[in-house]
Amino acid sequence: MTSPAKTSKSASKIQPSPKFTRILFKISGEILSGDLDDGLQSERLNEIAAEIKSVHDLGVEIGLVIGGGNIFRGLSQAAKGMDRVNADHMGMLATVINALAMQDCLEQHGLFTRVMSAIKMEEIAEPYIRRRAVRHLEKGRVVLMAAGTGNPYFTTDTAAALRAVEIGADAVLKGTKVDGVYSGDPKTDPTAKMFSRLSYMDVISKGLRVMDSTAVSLCMENKLSIIVFNLNQRGNFRRLIMGEQVGTVVAEG
Ligand code: UDP
Repeated sequence: MTSPAKTSKSASKIQPSPKFTRILFKISGEILSGDLDDGLQSERLNEIAAEIKSVHDLGVEIGLVIGGGNIFRGLSQAAKGMDRVNADHMGMLATVINALAMQDCLEQHGLFTRVMSAIKMEEIAEPYIRRRAVRHLEKGRVVLMAAGTGNPYFTTDTAAALRAVEIGADAVLKGTKVDGVYSGDPKTDPTAKMFSRLSYMDVISKGLRVMDSTAVSLCMENKLSIIVFNLNQRGNFRRLIMGEQVGTVVAEG
């Protein structure tokens, strides 16, 4: 007969393991606004931090890129008439504000973190240095990669794709407010269908709203999968990491 101790040991052996070991998680700034029109909603930040912790607890290394659209976008109405480079600098600074807010929240959830900025501001954040970022990840720190790529005329989607390739992430996971990628806008088009899988070329040729085309091209060239999923549904992030079919996967055709 099997002793109780033996049973529990063998049960722990068959525990499923996460499908990913290192990920790049991208969220838009807007998601941090929650029910507000813009800015930061602390309840929402806390909810997202809890989701991130639940994935970190599985032993997954997490690089995090947060957009800045809840505060400022280079191409927004507020930037109308402004020099584009200036406006983009403001947008990148907005991503630093979001990263610092999320860092604080993640630390309140007991996680160790580092903010690394693509624009030097050493009193506030470490400069982004790839090898150092990888070392932090290996030590179990959540690395928040702020200030986008550090260059105007880019987006934080492209920053996410770039950092993912640099750190050797298994995939870019984009947490959104919708379940995945649709053939049309599900809010206005009742016939819009959600795709479970797409090729990079599908996304580019159909102009589907996954990530901007620079980001998608970078992922395609480097065979890096993109997974778009609903972050507003509690537990989705962890389920996805554990290998459940959640959201839309963009990969080689
Ligand atoms: N931005 C930039 N270069 C980058 C990343 C971002 O100039 O590499 C600026 C750009 O003005 C952008 C703003 O930062 O509009 C905020 O980023 P994004 O629009 O990607 O944020 P999200 O929509 O994800 O919240």
